[in-house]
Amino acid sequence: MTETKPDFDIMIIGSGPAGFTAAIYSARGGAATALFGGVAPGGQLLQTTEIENFPGFPEPVIGAELMEKMLKQAKRLGTTVFNEDVTAVDLTGRPFKVTSGSGKTYTAGAVIVATGAQARWLGLPSEQKYVGKGVSGCATCDGFFFRGKEVCVVGGGDTAAEDALFLTRFASKVYLVHRRDKLRANFRLQEKLRTNPKIEIIYDHVPAEITGEAKVTGITLKHVATGALRRLELPGVFIAIGHSPATGIFKDKLNLDDAGYIVTDERTATSVFGVFAAGDVMDTRYKQAVVAAGSGCKAAMEALLYLEDIKK
Ligand code: NAP
Repeated sequence: MTETKPDFDIMIIGSGPAGFTAAIYSARGGAATALFGGVAPGGQLLQTTEIENFPGFPEPVIGAELMEKMLKQAKRLGTTVFNEDVTAVDLTGRPFKVTSGSGKTYTAGAVIVATGAQARWLGLPSEQKYVGKGVSGCATCDGFFFRGKEVCVVGGGDTAAEDALFLTRFASKVYLVHRRDKLRANFRLQEKLRTNPKIEIIYDHVPAEITGEAKVTGITLKHVATGALRRLELPGVFIAIGHSPATGIFKDKLNLDDAGYIVTDERTATSVFGVFAAGDVMDTRYKQAVVAAGSGCKAAMEALLYLEDIKK
């Protein structure tokens, strides 16, 4: 039986470094390539400020600029970019089907999932009540609103450290609240935190409640060992406690691990033959832009080989 010719050879879902690198390799490999990038293509790096560790940039590069360059490169090489989210996928048979936010369905010979990960929330009821009213998951987006004010950042990883440093550009003081007595952030960032006079690190505390009226007025912290409460009166609370993979639409369609990451083999193959995954959506360990880009390259090379193989 002859298979129906799909709309695209390779369909990439996601527009971070993994998605764009996959698109660059796929298009250069001669495949008719489409990429669904969401309403604002660029992924998590759009919310990052200066990136110092992406090779090829001797001076720090702004996340949004790096992503704009990747988008242009993917388009120049012939990728069709849709500024829409994917709302549903049908991976039960070939060609695979992908439905976009506008309700249109497109078919593809192979699919690369590079949907990345989203910021995680603490789960306090008061947190969701004040999102957009003083509680934020994006320092880059909202830091500007806290000029001359005190703010706090919750978390102890690289993101929390970067957010705290970024916020010192605007805020008069930044508290970094971490649940342990040691930060997870890398040494270089820790040095920068230590030497910044606007930053105070509060170890061994977790948020107990965020309080306010129309907007946030403060946060109550709890000491993890003693339970003692400490109040900070401030209008801005930034949550930077890590990420969850964006795999909602792939549940029951691809094998996911307990945390929701897509399970792949060392060649980026998922549990469905012809569907590959790359970047933070399958990376439980490194979560670096350059690693994501590398896995996007692998996924595209494997998808191209797969398309050759099924022709035989
Ligand atoms: P992360 O490394 O997973 O760190 C999350 C932090 O939040 C940890 O310190 C964790 O505490 C804390 N945390 C988690 N759940 C919490 C809760 N419910 N209450 C209070 N605290 C909680 O996440 P990330 O900082 O977003 O970084 C993710 C990845 O991206 C990492 O691999 C990181 O290296 C990378 N990244 C790199 C850069 C860079 O190189 N410039 C920038 C940003 C991110 P524990 O430490 O106790 O677990």
